[in-house]
Amino acid sequence: DADGREAVVDGKNGLVILEPDESTRKQFLEKLRQDTERKQLVSLLKGKPSMTKDGVKLLTYANIGRLDDLDAVLSNDAEGIGLFRTEFLFLGRDTPPSEEGQFSVYRETAARMQGKPVVFRTLDIGSDKQAPWLSLPEESNPALGMRAIRICFTHPSLFRTQLRALYRASAYGNVEIMFPMITSLWEVQKIKEIAAQVREELLEEGVAFSPSLPLGIMIETPAAAMLSGRLAQEVDFFSIGTNDLTQYTLALDRQHPGLGDFFDPYHPAVLELLRIIAQNANRHRIRVGICGELAADLSLTETFLAFGIQELSVPPAAVLPLREKIRSLTKERSSRILEQLAMDCGRS
Ligand code: PEP
Ligand code: MG
Repeated sequence: DADGREAVVDGKNGLVILEPDESTRKQFLEKLRQDTERKQLVSLLKGKPSMTKDGVKLLTYANIGRLDDLDAVLSNDAEGIGLFRTEFLFLGRDTPPSEEGQFSVYRETAARMQGKPVVFRTLDIGSDKQAPWLSLPEESNPALGMRAIRICFTHPSLFRTQLRALYRASAYGNVEIMFPMITSLWEVQKIKEIAAQVREELLEEGVAFSPSLPLGIMIETPAAAMLSGRLAQEVDFFSIGTNDLTQYTLALDRQHPGLGDFFDPYHPAVLELLRIIAQNANRHRIRVGICGELAADLSLTETFLAFGIQELSVPPAAVLPLREKIRSLTKERSSRILEQLAMDCGRS
């Protein structure tokens, strides 16, 4: 620290140990050695496909929130960006970013990914991420209130500006757009109408963009999960947000400091929803991925494979360990997991 005392910082467990005794010191040095060895081992997987032993591909994408994270995406050899949380461009400032300001970030991200897909999620503020320039009234239930797509619909010029910037960036790389907090079919239809208007506008102005830019939605509410068979007919892909899906399925505030023990993403109801969403996506032949924290949980990779999940988006540092896990699995053997879940849910 500032006084020159030695300290151990254990980022994994959120611990700082000041002036560690000799055995603690030794223990952490050994941990550090093992971590470095592991990192070197998984780094051998760069450039190798994320594929099971029996040849089934499970894409390993990365989640980011700012341009600065791009180096980590590239150095960990992610096959794409499965979630770019664009709200970080809108927070911690007095006014929303301009179309040009957003465009330059989206363009640089798309260009530096050199043809690999980049899924930008439109503004997801409200709830735990408040932007003072929006002057939203205080809410007693912010997680159930004015957030994400609801803010975009009630602030149409904010939404259009972001869509224009994203479409313009699509001329420089492989851009995809997804929309958060969907609950209803009408929302998706309205988004598609607005996107079509934005494309029309850009066409008239003679501005370049990719006309086939894929549009997808986050499935992170039980309503969207239950409607996923219908929603799959409207969009190009699904990305499952397990953080919110768990919160809304278990009626449990994900921010609540005292409820951590109750926040159970392994709950059979959550897993059953994941199974249903994946099944509906596969039935309608659209891509389905997971971008919530659960995607990086290696104890569930085999379950996701069994469900027919095709893409997992995780923090950049988790990409290669996930690839290693995928390469140790067999799709055919994974299907036995489905029987256990059927029993847990009382379906058999
Ligand atoms: C999620 O809800 O799982 C998700 C990925 O979105 P966020 O954590 O940003 O709400
Ligand atoms: Mg979410």
